[in-house]
Amino acid sequence: MSNDYKPLQGMSDIFGNDVHIFREIENIAHRVFDNYGYSEVRTPILEKSDVFLHTLGGTSDIVQKEMYNFQDRGGRSIVLRPEGTAGVVRFLASRGEAGLNDKVYYLGPMFRCERPQAGRKRQFHQIGVEQTCNPNPLIDAEVIALQCELLHQWGIENIRIKINSLGSLDDQVNIRFGLLESLEPYQNNFTKEEIERIHKNVLRFLDSKDEKYRKIINKLPSIQSFMSDESKEYLEKVINILKSLDIEVECNQNLVRGLDYYNHTVWEITHDSLGSQNALAGGGRYTIDIGKRKIDGVGFAMGVERILSAKQNAKYDINDEVKQGYWIISLGSTAILENMKLARMLRNRGAKVGMDLEEKSMKSQLRRADRFNALKVIIRGDNELNNDIVIIKDLDNHSQEELTLKNFIESI
Ligand code: AMP
Repeated sequence: MSNDYKPLQGMSDIFGNDVHIFREIENIAHRVFDNYGYSEVRTPILEKSDVFLHTLGGTSDIVQKEMYNFQDRGGRSIVLRPEGTAGVVRFLASRGEAGLNDKVYYLGPMFRCERPQAGRKRQFHQIGVEQTCNPNPLIDAEVIALQCELLHQWGIENIRIKINSLGSLDDQVNIRFGLLESLEPYQNNFTKEEIERIHKNVLRFLDSKDEKYRKIINKLPSIQSFMSDESKEYLEKVINILKSLDIEVECNQNLVRGLDYYNHTVWEITHDSLGSQNALAGGGRYTIDIGKRKIDGVGFAMGVERILSAKQNAKYDINDEVKQGYWIISLGSTAILENMKLARMLRNRGAKVGMDLEEKSMKSQLRRADRFNALKVIIRGDNELNNDIVIIKDLDNHSQEELTLKNFIESI
């Protein structure tokens, strides 16, 4: 494709079958969220930079490297939202008492200025939920169960759920201290900058994919060894509740997720068909400091493009779009105007109807009917107009019948 017509790098035009799958994914999501008692919220795509700087934590990759951050015409610092939680929690905080113990969901585009690669885009879409509530293993388990239900309804099976605990807020001080102490014997393996980075957020270090680091990480005590018994029991409860709901999870002690606001339960869902970017979704419990308020909650976000790929890899039959609706074929210019009126009438009755508004040959109009994926064509020329009839041709079995216009309209 010529560069003139390409969207920005890492961004895509979504069209054709992909739009159909996007819509199906969204429609199922609306239904499932309704059943679980979540209300939809549509927060702005642009937010004040502070919303993300304060919420996500200064050491996260998103804040350090990936935000589309700019000044607007009034010199205000603005961000194109890189994720949904911060904006939604800002909204919930604005609702005062009503925002506590609330359950909301969102869907829409997110923006991260990352190096584009397969499965990693600069504009992508997420579907997610946030539930504001005090720590409660039952709620964490129900949110994970909701996510599994969604994936099941979308036709995605064979998922893997990795789960871990980052401990309570009090534990996190001990975890950081304990890990840093355990890392001391390995100081010589790191540069000065690396040591600085590790000190800023030692938990992120556990997430590192670098082989050199992995060897050291594997020798460190688990983060659970620095946690209170209550926090360990909390995670056990979540895992047992999930088991009783027939949901299998794997405990992974090195799963930390990238953002500073998490505590207690964190999890990630992967699908092997996705290759190196195999994360379908992530979630966790958080405490977010926003303005003068602290909001406790739990939520998840799922990447719509990755769900779409997992569906395609699961051989979901996306090309088998059902034929439906009518294409009206006009023979002669008088018929075009009359058929426009007919199309309007049929659409008002809920039918999908298309037609050419330029005079075209029968062959060309039939080709258009095919592209429209019409099930039937309606043929009307001078003869049919004079006799108040229509010819209906079934494009599947090629049968043809003649009906009075009145009878045909009443049959829709
Ligand atoms: P995160 O907010 O990073 O936990 O991401 C949640 C989910 O969004 C991931 O599991 C992916 O499915 C999806 N996701 C995150 N970043 C991208 C990206 N750059 N391109 C496509 N999908 C993404």
